[in-house]
Amino acid sequence: MDLKSLIRDIPDFPKPGIVFRDITTLLNHPQGLRYTIDTLTAKCRDYGLSPDYIVGMESRGFLFGVPLAYQLEAGFIPVRKPGKLPAAVHSIEYDLEYGSDSLEIHQDAVASHHKVLIVDDLIATGGTAKATADLLEKIGCEVLGFAFIIELIDLGGREKLPDLPIITIIDY
Ligand code: 5GP
Repeated sequence: MDLKSLIRDIPDFPKPGIVFRDITTLLNHPQGLRYTIDTLTAKCRDYGLSPDYIVGMESRGFLFGVPLAYQLEAGFIPVRKPGKLPAAVHSIEYDLEYGSDSLEIHQDAVASHHKVLIVDDLIATGGTAKATADLLEKIGCEVLGFAFIIELIDLGGREKLPDLPIITIIDY
């Protein structure tokens, strides 16, 4: 299936000069959505990845992370922007082009003996995925790898990530 044809390009969003890859049109397509989750699942199995938890980043990582967790018979853990999670959190700060941001995870969501797979819709600079991996490493759990629907190759995000399996489906 030509999944790329189901991704909508939005020029100048969220800022002039940026082409946003909109995955809502993929989610909106019943066969496309099923094919995406089935493909992610098959690739995880090919790599022999059997995580205890999928960790998905706010907010589009939730959309693909939960069905993948269901398929792999894993649990799902959200990583969110500051102030969104209700219970006690671990947090990590990371650099953006201008300034910094942080990500949070519930303290009781995962323990050091667990294996996790990090999932997001898209990898651009890799900053979000790297910060998530660093947060999980701080907790002491084992990161098995990463899975993204889309990779923006020219931004070189994968170079920031540790030497682990990186699953992707579509690249630009
Ligand atoms: P990075 O931290 O790798 O630079 O950016 C990746 C994060 O930004 C992901 O959480 C992703 O959802 C979001 N993101 C950045 N650009 C795009 C885009 O063009 N399309 C979508 N769907 N998400 C994007």
